[in-house]
Amino acid sequence: MREAMIQARIGDDVFGEDPSTRELETYCADLLGFEAGLFCPSGTMANQIGLHIHLRPGDEVICDALSHVYLYEGGGIASNSMASVNLLTGDRGRIRAAQIEAAIQPMDVHHPVSRLVSLENTANKGGGSVYPLDWIREISDFCKARNLFLHLDGARIWNAWVAQPFELRELGRLFHTASVCLSKGLGAPVGSVLLGSQQDISQARRVRKRWGGGMRQSGFLAAAGLYALQYQMERLHEDHEKAQSIGKLLAGKSWIKEVMPVETNIVIASLREEAGSPADRVKRLKELGIFASPFGADKIRFVTHLDFSEEDLRIFAQQLSLMSD
Ligand SMILES: *Cc1c(COP(=O)(O)O)cnc(C)c1O
Repeated sequence: MREAMIQARIGDDVFGEDPSTRELETYCADLLGFEAGLFCPSGTMANQIGLHIHLRPGDEVICDALSHVYLYEGGGIASNSMASVNLLTGDRGRIRAAQIEAAIQPMDVHHPVSRLVSLENTANKGGGSVYPLDWIREISDFCKARNLFLHLDGARIWNAWVAQPFELRELGRLFHTASVCLSKGLGAPVGSVLLGSQQDISQARRVRKRWGGGMRQSGFLAAAGLYALQYQMERLHEDHEKAQSIGKLLAGKSWIKEVMPVETNIVIASLREEAGSPADRVKRLKELGIFASPFGADKIRFVTHLDFSEEDLRIFAQQLSLMSD
């Protein structure tokens, strides 16, 4: 990847003259069946621009209450787009068409306008849960029939695809816009790509510039992203297998109450009441060399990735065995 970055052909992308960035955008759009792509500095920016181009002030976004776009993007839906949210309780972060139908606001001056549905696949706070494609098709059909925009937060779409393979090109038929991440499981240093129609992406390009996300010689970063897509996607199943092992090891611990189903590379476990707070537990794990995150009132999260090797897994098991309470 570093070699690819060093060799990258570059130019000024704000002028549309960076060949590597253009190549990444086109490659990604083709791969997922969209007309065009926009390289963004972060997944947050890609999501926020994707939502923004569809929303007007006073609109609402319908999404699962655990969504990253709502919980972890700094209140961006409110501050960037002056829109509100209509939060649904799904199954481990995944909502259904019937729920959306029941949540849509009547067309009446009292209510916000239900404008857009946002899905997250895999769902981070749902423990890396994967949307069955049928559910997405149902939602997509429903959104088309009711004139709702449909956005995908696909930060972890690669993990979803590895766990439950589908035709990647189908995404472009199902969603108006999608964000996909190059820097999580795929291991590039920086960046996400926003995907959509030509028209949506040219509007998105304007918003990205206004928000300060127009980058100049971004080709060095784009080359890393392209390398990640071409060479580091097939290995994601290894992360999933390691996550399975971690889930099994955790399930055997007396201080763990429950491990959420492990579908991809995320393992979320809840702690028994007497096991102390997630922050304390994470601190104790860190002393053993195990890095996890506190994840809500009684949960901790583990994530496997490119740099977590078989040897690391062996050390994990060994160190975890030292923690008996
Ligand atoms: C990490 C993540 C993002 C945002 O990515 P950043 O690059 O950290 O801004 C968006 N959605 C989901 C589901 C994520 O996990």
